[in-house]
Amino acid sequence: MTDFPNCPQCDGEFTYADGPLFVCPSCAHEWSPSDEAAAAEEDATRDANGNLLENGDAVIVVKDLKFNGGVVKGGTKVKNIRIVDGDHDIDCKIDGIGAMSLKSEFVKKA
Ligand SMILES: [Zn+2]
Repeated sequence: MTDFPNCPQCDGEFTYADGPLFVCPSCAHEWSPSDEAAAAEEDATRDANGNLLENGDAVIVVKDLKFNGGVVKGGTKVKNIRIVDGDHDIDCKIDGIGAMSLKSEFVKKA
């Protein structure tokens, strides 16, 4: 039983704190807790302003986005988004256009 996280490198359990760092005696890996926080942050889908996006959120497109056959105008409101994995990390339906994939960096939370 320990309060320390498992080693991110080898998943070793016998980690300990050495000053501001965590140390893994199994593989000699050292890391800082803020690295872990940063990695967790990267997993989250965030809008152009860094706000967390979740399934069902409404967003506003921040710039004109060209796609095959048209343009989604900046300022378009998109309701009920779905967070997905991938380069385009938002699935949604846009009125008058239909199903679309967007990049979270080009929207902001409405
Ligand atoms: Zn390790």
